[in-house]
Amino acid sequence: MRTTELASALAGVRALVLDADGVLLYAGRPLPGSVDALARLEGAGIPYRVVTNFSLAHRETLAANVSRQFGRPVRPSTIITAASAAAALTALHHPGEPLLVFASDDARREWDGQRLVTPAEADDPATKVAAVVIGDAGDELSFRNLDIAFRRLRAGAAFIAMHRNLWWMTRRGITLDAGAVVVGLEHALERRATVAGKPSPVVFREALRELGAEVRATGGRRLLARDVAMVGDDLDSDVAGAHRAGLRGLLVLTGKTDRAAVDATAAAGRLKGPARPDAVGADLREVVEALLEGRDAGR
Ligand SMILES: [Mg+2]
Repeated sequence: MRTTELASALAGVRALVLDADGVLLYAGRPLPGSVDALARLEGAGIPYRVVTNFSLAHRETLAANVSRQFGRPVRPSTIITAASAAAALTALHHPGEPLLVFASDDARREWDGQRLVTPAEADDPATKVAAVVIGDAGDELSFRNLDIAFRRLRAGAAFIAMHRNLWWMTRRGITLDAGAVVVGLEHALERRATVAGKPSPVVFREALRELGAEVRATGGRRLLARDVAMVGDDLDSDVAGAHRAGLRGLLVLTGKTDRAAVDATAAAGRLKGPARPDAVGADLREVVEALLEGRDAGR
């Protein structure tokens, strides 16, 4: 029965957007079958992007780490992080303009080729700042630097956030995340940031743009949002985010949402609207199998 639900939810799907944590990996280790599922997608020529709000590292660093974990090469160009999505956003809307970007040294390389100013430079009112990007920057998110950002934002700079995640799990346990700083600035400024990462449509549009270009390059017909399915483990960040951007949204049970959580959400009447998945799969392997079977049947 579940297989039928998966098959009909995937009918006509020509590309996938995959969440990383809870779909490909769990606690930093590959989930059973996920490496093979990626290989099967590649073998079948189905393009995909891995979309994650993890934004401490450049995509090359992430790809190298994941390649080591997976024992097979993962290309940096198949990954989109909240940082790379934010960099794509500033490249699109503020080309050549000075940007104040709070990111780790590694993730800041996503802005290579764009014009960045340091907090000290931005503190000089004579320096123009077109946009401020708040991301995971560790100790660089000091009171002094945030105050500089606040002043530039009040003066009219565009306000971009990598994500609004309030906390996350690290080796130290529950750890404050950069989204908490974003929310504080939003209150002080009385305006909302444009969020680049999930569940914002920005990151899904970026994935769609890249997948569309890949399909075009291989002579395929135009890729529409509904031709793409997101596979994630989070009903809001992944499923609702994908639906709001026009993609299909599938849930797998290998991460933060298990069958009991789905049933509890449904019983509470909250499994509705954009957070209602088009289908629920046990894991990525099952989703990819259903996709490939559907494609073969449609030939
Ligand atoms: Mg996840």
